[in-house]
Amino acid sequence: MDFIRTLRLRGTAAAEEELPDAAAVAAWVGEFGPWEPGTCAAAPGHDARARELREAIHELITAARSAAGAGSCSPRARETVNNAAALPVPAPRLEPSGRLSWHAAEPVLATLALVARDALDLVTSPAIGRVHECAGPGCHALFLDSSRPGTRRWCSMNTCGNKVKKEALRSRRRQD
Ligand SMILES: [Zn+2]
Repeated sequence: MDFIRTLRLRGTAAAEEELPDAAAVAAWVGEFGPWEPGTCAAAPGHDARARELREAIHELITAARSAAGAGSCSPRARETVNNAAALPVPAPRLEPSGRLSWHAAEPVLATLALVARDALDLVTSPAIGRVHECAGPGCHALFLDSSRPGTRRWCSMNTCGNKVKKEALRSRRRQD
C-alpha cells in the first residue's frame, strides 16, 4: 500500500509522482526494502518498471475490491504483476556476527518482486476486505485497515485524519 501511494492524489489534477526517476526508485527501495543503507542502485529503466508495476497493482486491487473480483482486472495488469512476482526475491545470508543480511543481484527488481508477491497474496486473501479508500477530501488513497474493529477511515491520521478533524473543529467554531 505504501508503494501504490507513491503516486499521490491519483486520478486528480494535483497527482504527485514520487518515483519520477531511477534515483527516486532506488531511494524508495532503500527505505522500504531489507537493505543496508546506501546499497541500492537503480539501473535506467527500473523506474519505468516500478511505475508500471505500481499502476498494475492499483488496478488489480481495485478489481479485487469490486464485485467482479481480482480476475476481472485487465490481462496486461495481471501479467505485469505475475511477471514481477516471478523475479528472484532477496536471499537471506547469516553473517559471522550472527546477524542476517539480505542480498540480490538486482535489489530494485528483487524488492519489486516482494511487493508483487504481497499484492497477489492480498488480492486472493480475506484481507482484501480490509482495504478501504481514504475518506479524506480528494485523497482516494487505498489503505489496509489493520485496526481490530476495521473502522479506520483515513490513509493516515497525520495527514487526512487531522485535516478532516481540523475542518470539523473550524466549522463547529463558526457555528458557535
Ligand atoms: Zn487520505
